[in-house]
Amino acid sequence: DEFTKKHLQGFQETTFALIKPDGLKNMGRIIDMILANGFLIKELRMCKLSLEDAQNFYKAHAGKPFYEALTQFMANGLCVAMDLVAENAVKRWRTLLGPTNSEEARDRDPSSIRALFGTNNTHNACHGSDSLENAKKESAFFFRDRNFGSCARLENCTLCIIK
Ligand code: GDP
Ligand code: MG
Repeated sequence: DEFTKKHLQGFQETTFALIKPDGLKNMGRIIDMILANGFLIKELRMCKLSLEDAQNFYKAHAGKPFYEALTQFMANGLCVAMDLVAENAVKRWRTLLGPTNSEEARDRDPSSIRALFGTNNTHNACHGSDSLENAKKESAFFFRDRNFGSCARLENCTLCIIK
């Protein structure tokens, strides 16, 4: 009915999710969990980050001791970028991810994605935006800041997996 529709629309939010290279082999299970938890997948793209892409994506962490390992890891395999829609999507996706460090996640939240599919503090299977503002920026980084709409000019998109 009209009331329910308006209510739901008011709470629909889009967050940005990224399956990291170490999570790719579990992409099917991760997507099962995303759908079972009530998210819609509005955009999805498999892609390959260059080192420069990875450095830009994680520029907020530039200079930190783990930055070099993190950006090398992110550029060293395929990722899957997604826009996820749900009520309170930003918060709910972070909750489903669990703690950043997969080893800690296995203690604190063993059914979380990072507990199930990650390895340690760097290799933790998936990313999730930490705010609505960052979700918009990160989604744009993958889905709007590049010319891949038609994929007719592959050379214009650094994320293309077909070289
Ligand atoms: P997130 O928002 O939970 O992904 O965590 P952050 O934004 O703080 O860090 C970004 C990514 O950097 C994390 O997902 C990890 O892959 C990595 N990372 C964060 N903190 C550490 C750390 O203390 N050590 C190592 N090795 N990696 C880290
Ligand atoms: Mg973060």
